[in-house]
Amino acid sequence: MEKLARHRPKRELVPTKRVLIDSDLGQCPSCQKELKPRRPWHMHKTIQTLEGPIFVAGKSKECGTPGCENYGKHYYASRVWLMSLPNSTYGLDVLTFIGWQHDHEHRQLVEIQRELNQRGVAINERNVGKLYRQFLALLAGSRTDIEENLVETAASYGGVIWAIDALQPEGDGTLLYVLYEVLSGKPVAALQREHLSEPELLEWLQPYKAFPFKVLATLSDGEASLVLALKTCWSEAPHQRCQAHFLNNLAEAVWEDDELLRKNMRQDLGGLAAVPENEPPEGDSPLLPEKAQPEIPN
Ligand SMILES: [Zn+2]
Repeated sequence: MEKLARHRPKRELVPTKRVLIDSDLGQCPSCQKELKPRRPWHMHKTIQTLEGPIFVAGKSKECGTPGCENYGKHYYASRVWLMSLPNSTYGLDVLTFIGWQHDHEHRQLVEIQRELNQRGVAINERNVGKLYRQFLALLAGSRTDIEENLVETAASYGGVIWAIDALQPEGDGTLLYVLYEVLSGKPVAALQREHLSEPELLEWLQPYKAFPFKVLATLSDGEASLVLALKTCWSEAPHQRCQAHFLNNLAEAVWEDDELLRKNMRQDLGGLAAVPENEPPEGDSPLLPEKAQPEIPN
């Protein structure tokens, strides 16, 4: 019997659907002869998707032509990777869902976890964080696409605007640095570190500095290393403070007073009677004991 690690209990997923995928290739790219389907699946697993658990299997093919330089070579069913990443038991739709909810809807990992649980996806908060990082890695992997997309943005706006945000998705000391282009709203790169110094930030920005676009401006919060790195990397472009961050920083000065005011108001209001329900059920008033109920004229 297969022995399982204690900390990783096997999850019983009952697939509601089966997806069997063949290799896309019909002929051997080398000798052009028909490829032979191989009998065993080269991979199979059950993944959790937003539509429920799905059994996915991939069947490869091989070249059976003696003398061909690719004789015996396997051609895998690569479309299985469109369903789920290697070694992952979650569908790519779950990954995308997490990325969108986090970056676009600005929801916290724990909120996303709850939503996924409600939709029947068994996942803990830690794994939501892990999948979020995989999502960012996938985005970073499609750099060519990003550059192509930015061509359009640069053409319609006359340039691009770079911004860096340092997020704390896990709530601990680790920061997630996200570089994004403001006009298109597209995240371009992400990096997770304790804290990046200005030279480290500069090094990270080098590939994007090489992009052939005019940089109209750069944007970040007031964090010194971020400001310096952006100003050094794109020295011709004016640097701006993000409005949201700027307003937050302004509010910091009155934060304590505001808290105190809020606390006092809560205490004062707490002494008042509760707001009555609009329409109590007939013959049952939550406001007054029955015998003390006043007569209501018709
Ligand atoms: Zn061949």
